Amino acid sequence: MENSGLLIVISGPSGAGKGTICKALLEKDPSIHVSVSATTRAPRMGEVHGENYYFLTMEEFKERLEQDQFLEYAKVYDNYYGTPKENVMEQLQRGKDVLLEIDTEGALKVKEKFPEGVFIFILPPRIEDLKRRIMNRGTESEEDIKKRLEAAKEEIQKIHEYNYGVINDDVERATLDVQSILSAEKLKTERN
Ligand code: 5GP
Repeated sequence: MENSGLLIVISGPSGAGKGTICKALLEKDPSIHVSVSATTRAPRMGEVHGENYYFLTMEEFKERLEQDQFLEYAKVYDNYYGTPKENVMEQLQRGKDVLLEIDTEGALKVKEKFPEGVFIFILPPRIEDLKRRIMNRGTESEEDIKKRLEAAKEEIQKIHEYNYGVINDDVERATLDVQSILSAEKLKTERN
C-alpha cells in the first residue's frame, strides 16, 4: 500500500499493562489513530460507547460479521470482539499510523492480511504479577480473573509470532521501548 501508515498491533495477557502503555504512547504521539473495537461484552464502569468500544448485542455483532465489516474478530473470555475494517483502512490510506490493541488470535488473523504490520507483545516481568494487577484493577469477578489467567498462559505461548516483545516492568520505560520500535520501523518503510 503506497504512502500507507504503519499498522501497529499490540497484544499481551490481561494485566500485562498494555492498555496503560497504549494510553501513554498516545499521549506522546497523539497522531496515532486508535481503532475502536466492537464487543458483545458489557461496559465496565466509566466505559463509553464509541470511545472505549462499540458495545453491541450479539445480534448486532453477527449482523456486522455477516456484512464482512470486521478486519478480524475473535471470541475472548466468552465475549466477541472485532476490529471494524472501514475506519482502519481509511486511516492507513491517509498515511496515518493505526493502533490495534487486540488478542493473539485476532493479531494472527491481521498478520495474514498485513504481514508488513508491526506486531508487539507486552509481557509482565513475572507471570505472578498478572493476578495482582488484574485484582488491583477491581473490575473483574473472581471467575473472570481465573479465566483471564488461564488465557494469559496460552497467549504467552504465541509470543514468537510477534516482531517484538516488550517487558512492562516500568510503564515509562516500556512506552519508550515501543516508541523506539515504531521509529525504527518507520525508517525502514521510508527506506523501502
Ligand atoms: P477487555 O475485555 O479487557 O477490554 O479486553 C479483553 C481482550 O480482548 C484483550 O486481550 C483485548 O486486547 C482484546 N480485544 C479488544 N478488542 C479486540 C478486537 O477488536 N479483536 C480482538 N481479537 N481482540 C480484542
